[in-house]
Amino acid sequence: MIVAEEQDELKVKLKEFFGYGNFRGNQEPVIRNILSGRNTFVIMPTGAGKSLCYQLPAMILDGLAIVISPLIALMKNQVDSLNAYGINARFLNSTLNKAEITQLRKECANGSVKLLYVAPESLNKEENISFLRKIKISFVAIDEAHCISEWGHDFRPEYRKIKTMLAQLGQMPVIALTATATPKVQLDIQKNLQMEEADVFISSFNRVNLFYEVRPKKETKKQLIKFLKDHKGKSGIIYCLSRKKVEEIAQLLNVNGFKAVPYHAGLDPEVRVKNQDDFLNEEVEIVVATIAFGMGIDKPDVRFVVHYDVPKSLEGYYQETGRAGRDGLEGVCLMFYSHNDLNKLEKFNKDKSVQERENARILLQEMEFYAESPVCRRKQLLHYFGEEYPENNCGACDNCVNPRERFDGTEHVKIFLEATVQTSERFGLNHIVNVIRGVEDEYVKSYGHTELKIFSKGDQEDNDFWKSVGRQALIYQYLEKDIENVGVLKLTQKGKKFLVKPHRIELARDHDFTTAIDEEEESAERAVQAKSYDAKLFEVLKSLRKQMARERNLPPYVIFQDPSLEEMATIYPTTKEEMASVNGVGMGKVNKFGKEFIEVIQKYVEENEIETAADVVVKTSVNKSNIKVFIIQQIDRKVDLDEIAAAKNLSFGNLLTEIENICFSGTKLNLDYYIDQVLDEEKQEAIHDYFINSESDSIEEALADESNADFSEEDLRLMRVKFLSEYAN
Ligand code: ADP
Ligand code: MG
Ligand code: ZN
Repeated sequence: MIVAEEQDELKVKLKEFFGYGNFRGNQEPVIRNILSGRNTFVIMPTGAGKSLCYQLPAMILDGLAIVISPLIALMKNQVDSLNAYGINARFLNSTLNKAEITQLRKECANGSVKLLYVAPESLNKEENISFLRKIKISFVAIDEAHCISEWGHDFRPEYRKIKTMLAQLGQMPVIALTATATPKVQLDIQKNLQMEEADVFISSFNRVNLFYEVRPKKETKKQLIKFLKDHKGKSGIIYCLSRKKVEEIAQLLNVNGFKAVPYHAGLDPEVRVKNQDDFLNEEVEIVVATIAFGMGIDKPDVRFVVHYDVPKSLEGYYQETGRAGRDGLEGVCLMFYSHNDLNKLEKFNKDKSVQERENARILLQEMEFYAESPVCRRKQLLHYFGEEYPENNCGACDNCVNPRERFDGTEHVKIFLEATVQTSERFGLNHIVNVIRGVEDEYVKSYGHTELKIFSKGDQEDNDFWKSVGRQALIYQYLEKDIENVGVLKLTQKGKKFLVKPHRIELARDHDFTTAIDEEEESAERAVQAKSYDAKLFEVLKSLRKQMARERNLPPYVIFQDPSLEEMATIYPTTKEEMASVNGVGMGKVNKFGKEFIEVIQKYVEENEIETAADVVVKTSVNKSNIKVFIIQQIDRKVDLDEIAAAKNLSFGNLLTEIENICFSGTKLNLDYYIDQVLDEEKQEAIHDYFINSESDSIEEALADESNADFSEEDLRLMRVKFLSEYAN
């Protein structure tokens, strides 16, 4: 049979040129479509094998195939690997010199080059256009075609000019390829390239082997370390927003025994390449990176992708998580989420044009909905990319594994759909919610929506609740987004049917992420927050402290202060190192008092079968920031405290606070040289007597005590440091 023969022939070519035995997914139909000269639009997830879709036809067809690609670095990569197959592929971009360009043109003219990778900027040059016009071109492939659309996440203005440039080259088939395109972006691309009639090949975006999870950004470092310990020895990528964070986390991981390297645009190119290679060659387990990492890298066994910060868009999130489990085996995708991150991201856009800012805001809002939604993550992601996931429980995301409590939402959905209809299907989520809740803002009034029957029908529930109802109605396909008008919601057929004949719909409430907080605020807030320590162990530790204090004739706080005990009762340190990582402890104190505490905790952990104490211990490398190190050194050299304060531009009070922090975390400081100048022996003794007999080391209490009437707050604070340094540290 002819068909079978043809099929075989294509496979033979695949084997001949690329060495693969079989096509994957949609590759074969796509390739056949291109071979028959049709305009083709390919949407295929990252890693599925888009390149082959144009590379093989390029080899089979007569003439030169032009490949437009946005990244010069990737271009070189692809050309190198094609050359390795013995395929004559070349690139044309701004990195070539005159002689190279002349040589390249000659080779293109004599027909020996089969694939030419071009950056849109280079294609835009008159001289390149006029030379390409003389050459027989088989087709043009536009890779990363989502860059055309300003509604997408990676808009590149020069991509919008592609159509005009191509028009100058004459008629030829166009193939556009992308891994991320929402239905709106897809339409935008086709319109811009004037290929609305193109054959569209959409592969499923479902990555069945990936597990999706979103957690509140809270005690994030501890959560991260625990997660990594659970995935010890496996390869993974951790994405952070800033270079600074990348460096910080990479260091944190190394201190905690993981082999991790940083990766960001601020590193020297050699370092960056080395770090990437080390990751690919498994010299290191983990790359901590800004989003610059991963484009075009092809490591099949990445076992986890962590978003330490919230990504800018679901497109980005999907692409980045897509780097996990390419081999079809385990891939865990964990995102830490907080509202604060969204605010930060929004601030990054403040210098952009109004339109760009608005587009970026819409992308962020989708991110917010995704993170807070109770609906299956997979269902949401696929819905976002225009694909329906038929199941309601995928079994491989946090919302499915730990479903939130459901309630009968039939009435709520009915109200939402009614409101959509009564406002003529011309408004977005926020407006519809305002109408339902009876919010009389200018907008609602100006449309006369206060007069609608549905107005204020849902005033018992709050804004977030109704937004969530609307979002769930969207994902369950009672509503759809109007592709032409951003944000506008319309009823689907299913939605219309439902209004006529309602059936029971179950909804769930959104996650509450209000407890997630910003890292920088975290340590400050930790002190204020109600703590979730092990109260029983805390009591055990307190009584041990009391007993030890009695034996030594010291007040208990000298041994360890309450916050330290609370932390011990949270993280169960059972080794000296772990104990030293507790705030306010430090190695000095561990050696002095730690042994008994470690023993007690060990026993407690065993008796109560507490899983793994070590799991959540985070060692911080930056316990001593630069300023602290400076202060310690200066005090060692007996430099006057006023001088130290002046050198660091601190007030005396602030210097004292720094000194106290150093002292409270277990470092011995000898301030005698200074204290002896300001307090005579008798006074020092009086304050010492106060502290040794006091139940607490609070300065307020000390000030209130009449025995201290003659002393200033500074005197007391200095003496407290001396006292703690002598007895506690
Ligand atoms: P995409 O551009 O869609 O992200 P690539 O084109 O870079 O993906 O391909 C990803 C990987 O899949 C590459 O390592 C490629 O060699 C491999 N690949 C593509 N097609 C096949 C195939 N038919 N059989 C085996 N491997 C393939
Ligand atoms: Mg690609
Ligand atoms: Zn799910």
